[in-house]
Amino acid sequence: MLPIDGNRLNARLEAFAAIGATAKGGVNRQALTEGDRGARRLLAELALARGFEVFQDPMANLFIRREGRDVTLPPLLIGSHLDSQPAGGRFDGALGTLAAFEVLESLEDAGRATECAVVVVSWMNEEGCRFSPGCMGSMAFAGGEIPQAWHGKVATDGAGFGEELALTLASLPEAVMVPLGFPVHAYLEVHIEQGPSLEAAGIPIGVVKGIQGTRWLDVTVTGQTAHAGTTGLSWRRDPLHALTAALSGLYGAVMPDDPDARFTIGRISAEPGSVNAIPEEVRCTVDMRHPDPQRLDEIEELTRSRIGQEAERQGCLVQISRSFDMPPCVFPEALQKAIGQAARDCKVESVPMLSGAFHDALFVNRVAPAAMIFVPCRDGLSHNEAEYVEPSDVVTGCNVLAQATLAIAATAGTKAGP
Ligand SMILES: [Zn+2]
Repeated sequence: MLPIDGNRLNARLEAFAAIGATAKGGVNRQALTEGDRGARRLLAELALARGFEVFQDPMANLFIRREGRDVTLPPLLIGSHLDSQPAGGRFDGALGTLAAFEVLESLEDAGRATECAVVVVSWMNEEGCRFSPGCMGSMAFAGGEIPQAWHGKVATDGAGFGEELALTLASLPEAVMVPLGFPVHAYLEVHIEQGPSLEAAGIPIGVVKGIQGTRWLDVTVTGQTAHAGTTGLSWRRDPLHALTAALSGLYGAVMPDDPDARFTIGRISAEPGSVNAIPEEVRCTVDMRHPDPQRLDEIEELTRSRIGQEAERQGCLVQISRSFDMPPCVFPEALQKAIGQAARDCKVESVPMLSGAFHDALFVNRVAPAAMIFVPCRDGLSHNEAEYVEPSDVVTGCNVLAQATLAIAATAGTKAGP
């Protein structure tokens, strides 16, 4: 077991919450602003004071390294992000970054050697609210390059991405510059759940199985408008009748037998939209989510075929196109098991769960085994200044991260590695 200093960690969370603090108790520390730079600066100062090596890459991802026994092994990466929403909370990102730094300090305090180096990371611009997309830092790290289109991006407040990035890099001259992307043994991220299920279940740790995939469809069904009173059933080509018949069957076919599936019609419209006319054309959106890409394909296939069948029955035409497709990410089982075991070692209950939101771990998982540890947040609130995590849950999350770090670092250079 590696003892951590829970008081130090909770005090650090307070200190970082003061950087970009808002009147309502939250933080506004959007990516590449003065606040973001201030938080990076404080973390780097703390790291340098402990004798750790501090470096950054051209995307302003910040790294803090504590050397392992074998300097040739790829490091175990642990961390999260320090940027926030404009009216964000104190824990989204900061918790995972500071818990990771607490693990590094605890290793140092205890004089514990690890097989590979342990590197704390703070990814640049996870939130994606000032400059989109989100997870820019981890995406570029995983891709090994900065996409050309990002250089000319302009922030919501008018600032240029290239200028702000350069200022941020220059604000930490002590950090050694390294090229983008390097081999990684594994990546672990503690994060608040940003949802209500852990708190509701009274369980302090969520072992994240993966991040569900999201796919959106645009559906248009075209029939023939006609008089509502004079047109008998056999004369109708009613697109709304076709669409609603298909959808009611789909609700029953997709979700009830599959607790991981999400099927949502968020928008539906009929034209011309007259009370006493059969519609000419109906449109709807479909939002489908699932952690298994094959199930996502099946749900899409079922949606297309059911709408197609009902439209044919009504003599209508159908057009269906994808407007968004984010593939799911499944975290390696070996890492999930290691986190579950770490929770048992800490004598706390844990539960496997899915993440409904994107995280940096999704992108890191494309190049290295990654996993996440969720902790409860009050009322499931996040992206909100009232976001709150009980200090005891902060400590539990960090304890589990500490044990998982020891276990996973020990597999570096062996065949048992994740
Ligand atoms: Zn976050």
